Amino acid sequence: MNSGSAAGRSLNGYALARVGLGAVLAACLAVLLLAPDQGPPVPDPAAAARVIADRFSPHELDRAGDYRSWGRLIGLASLVVQFATLAFLAFWRGAPMRRLLGWLGRRPLPGALAAGALVSLVLALTGLPFDIAAWQLGRDYGLVNQALGERLLDWLLATVVTAIPAALGGLLAMALWRRLKGRFWIAASVLVAIWAVITVWLWPVVISPLFNDFDPLPDGPARTGVLRLADRAGVEVGEVYEVDASRRSSTLNAYVNGIGSTKQVVIYDNAIRTLNRGEFTALVGHELGHVKAADLRRGLLFALLVIPLGVLFVQLATAAALRRNGDDPHSPALIPVIALWMALAVFALQIPGNALSRQVEAKADRYSIALTGDPQGLVDLQVRLAKANLSDVDPPAFWQFMFGTHPSTFDRIAIAEGAKGGSRDEG
Ligand SMILES: [Zn+2]
Repeated sequence: MNSGSAAGRSLNGYALARVGLGAVLAACLAVLLLAPDQGPPVPDPAAAARVIADRFSPHELDRAGDYRSWGRLIGLASLVVQFATLAFLAFWRGAPMRRLLGWLGRRPLPGALAAGALVSLVLALTGLPFDIAAWQLGRDYGLVNQALGERLLDWLLATVVTAIPAALGGLLAMALWRRLKGRFWIAASVLVAIWAVITVWLWPVVISPLFNDFDPLPDGPARTGVLRLADRAGVEVGEVYEVDASRRSSTLNAYVNGIGSTKQVVIYDNAIRTLNRGEFTALVGHELGHVKAADLRRGLLFALLVIPLGVLFVQLATAAALRRNGDDPHSPALIPVIALWMALAVFALQIPGNALSRQVEAKADRYSIALTGDPQGLVDLQVRLAKANLSDVDPPAFWQFMFGTHPSTFDRIAIAEGAKGGSRDEG
């Protein structure tokens, strides 16, 4: 008796559905548990609608709407093709695939390593046309500065950077699956959790510098402004970096990443160059809000809470699929199957994850307003960001629910406008 058939035999569709549903419920509970208290101000949507009518021309709104509609179409098509590709690799057992799996199966561990890299490479290749389409769209709308050659080099680098952990993941999955059988999910959960911590910790120092130059923000008004605000907020920011984002595109942003010794605030060079004082202060205040509330740790905690049931679901679904395929569960056929269910689990659990992210972002906006005492600075920032990034100020509700990591521009302006109403009442 082997792990695949053992798990498969004791499994019915109901058990799988129950664990899947349990994972989604755990994620929803984690959102309730980890969502920050919003507190004041209460959003003022009527005022937000006035701001948008005043500050955006119908032409600007139409142009951003067009750009984002095309972007959504490309994103959705890419998602469908990637899942279809994974499903094909997981379930198609035609003669060429049997031959390949048979060959990889002669030495299962190196075979699994190769299978992990292959799955990753095939996904990168099927994703390439959509990457080029998104690049062309960005060029057409004047958002992207990169030439096609540079973009392809980025793609190549990203492909290699993704294939390495995919290969190692394949090897580890195979080793654990063969050894642990039904207890695979426990060890795999621990490894996935360690991986989550490592990526948050190491990403800023190992991966990001492969794609961009990060320089400590030089002495000057911008650096002084950041440090003074951080001092007022009473937060330790680590280093403040300027990143040469303008090399790729004209979008504006800032972010915090890293934990512990790698913690850093990163500001796009575009933002330093183009934002006025009030906008820049609002942006930095928002990022300091993330540091103050330890939002990266919050994100990690969310991951740790959802990983165990998510991985258990992946294990049960994988065992059932291997049985259905008639695959040898001790062979690298495991790898495409487990990749499919993992992608599906990540996709499903990201939906509650995004709900948490939107609440965390709204809270950081509120923190920024309280810290700077300048809600108008935040309104101006949102208008500036939406124009520079061609954001859909009020995206379709379903899209926002599925993929929105931040509140919409409309919602963020409504929060800032709510603060003005509040100060008027008090005054
Ligand atoms: Zn943020």
